[in-house]
Amino acid sequence: MKIQEIHLWAPLCLVFYIGAIHGQTAPYPTNADQFNPSGHIVNCGHLFDGPSYYIKQLENKSLDNMFSLTKEQKREIGKANYEQVLKKYKLMDDFRHKESVLQTFANIKNTAHSPTKFKLHVIASTDINAFTMIGGHIYLTSGLLDYIDSMDELAFILGHEIGHHEKLHLERKIKKIMATSSFFGKTGVEDFTKIAVDLNNKFSAPFDQINEYESDEYGFEIAKNAGYDVNRFADFFKKLEKSENKSILTKLNSTHPFSSDRIRCLENYIAN
Ligand SMILES: [Zn+2]
Repeated sequence: MKIQEIHLWAPLCLVFYIGAIHGQTAPYPTNADQFNPSGHIVNCGHLFDGPSYYIKQLENKSLDNMFSLTKEQKREIGKANYEQVLKKYKLMDDFRHKESVLQTFANIKNTAHSPTKFKLHVIASTDINAFTMIGGHIYLTSGLLDYIDSMDELAFILGHEIGHHEKLHLERKIKKIMATSSFFGKTGVEDFTKIAVDLNNKFSAPFDQINEYESDEYGFEIAKNAGYDVNRFADFFKKLEKSENKSILTKLNSTHPFSSDRIRCLENYIAN
């Protein structure tokens, strides 16, 4: 698994552009049955999330209706993935600002009120990255912990990762892989473990822009409700922005939001 391809600034697949929808900001529907074709998403002026959001909701609906992953299956897939991470990277017991990091994690976790039991892992890597896997595993690189300047930044990042669980992004991604692979129909724990190992690179494929924005919005709310300073949440992206290539061609070929777009959305959330 290539950690740097996982998440925060990875290249992703193309989302076509027709026009932006300026929808209202909806509350976070964690219930998979809620279907709102007209609602949402970010009302912050970026170009990709209008019609594509509608299409995405249709896809979500069909994935939600397909079958359910049991708790045990989620745990097994997460565990298998964790073992893959361990083969490549060293977990750190001791890391920068450990006490504050663990306290921030506890605060965000408690505010999220999720039925998922989240576990935080810090891996030794100079990459600046955070990613998450089904079963509640949240991974931060030591490079990320060196990069952040406040626990407010971290609170938002952790909230964002929890958002991928709460908004069912992980679950749907796994279902999608299963539905389009030779694993379809296999439901035993051993099969799921095999899926996690064999398709590890697919599991680690990045989320698309819509999921990223949804998680940003979720992370914003959770970190804010946990008492962190909303004005610091975008600091991380402001630093990243300086190193990004923002040519329009790059932008069209990326489903990963650019930092400048994410900063604008966060500013929009603060204003509203
Ligand atoms: Zn994300």
